Amino acid sequence: EAALDLVGIEKGYNRGKPSEVIVLRGATLSVARGEVVALVAPSGAGKSTLLHIAGLLDTADGGAVRHGGRDMTGLSDRSRTEARRADVGFIYQFHHLLPEFSALENIVLPQLANGLGQREAEARARDLLARVGVAGRADHRPAQLSGGEQQRVAFCRALANGPKLLLADEPTGNLDPATSDQVFGALMDLVRETGLSALIATHNMELAARMDRVVRLDQGRVV
Ligand code: ADP
Ligand code: ADP
Repeated sequence: EAALDLVGIEKGYNRGKPSEVIVLRGATLSVARGEVVALVAPSGAGKSTLLHIAGLLDTADGGAVRHGGRDMTGLSDRSRTEARRADVGFIYQFHHLLPEFSALENIVLPQLANGLGQREAEARARDLLARVGVAGRADHRPAQLSGGEQQRVAFCRALANGPKLLLADEPTGNLDPATSDQVFGALMDLVRETGLSALIATHNMELAARMDRVVRLDQGRVV
């Protein structure tokens, strides 16, 4: 079965109030195992809302979410959090690395929280950093890294616990075009090497064209 199925997702905010906004109106989308799908839409169309529902950070008002064929729709908050931690890696436009910790520590900490030992976690962190070309920056804190390096470290952190599904919201949107291009290349190499399934929201049509498939969010539906 698919890595991700979103079936007829409905979502609104402030329902029943004058400020009501209906964002998703039956959005349906599947990401096959190992597939990298670009999600393209103008700002405000609901990309973040869709990614948060796909990643179990938020719940839909209607429709179904499945991870690897497993229905996530009726889960308790606790089970949903557990499933999110086990299944999903998130990447955002801004990296949200912990400023007081080194690049290495930022990748080690989520693994320790997940029950791995220090040595194993550190070995995995160093391997990930090397794969995205920042092995030499392991002991630097985020403020000592360039924007592109910070984002590469954030990719490693998102993959630290071996998620099955990667969800990214404008992962290089904060970088200048040349850096964005390189950093996106590093992300794609990492995704391909690990056989990850990914849904990546972007405004950038050149980046979208480098993925397996491009879908658009239009009037609350995926087209
Ligand atoms: P995108 O990521 O495509 O820019 P979002 O999913 O962030 O779009 O937002 C879609 C729409 O939902 C926007 O009109 C936004 O203002 C609205 N919205 C998002 N989150 C909330 C919220 N928590 N409360 C009310 N409206 C929201
Ligand atoms: P928490 O312990 O805060 O619930 P986790 O440690 O399970 O979160 O985090 C899993 C992923 O979900 C991380 O990549 C984190 O950045 C993201 N995440 C957690 N909560 C939110 C949120 N409210 N908004 C956006 N992303 C979040």
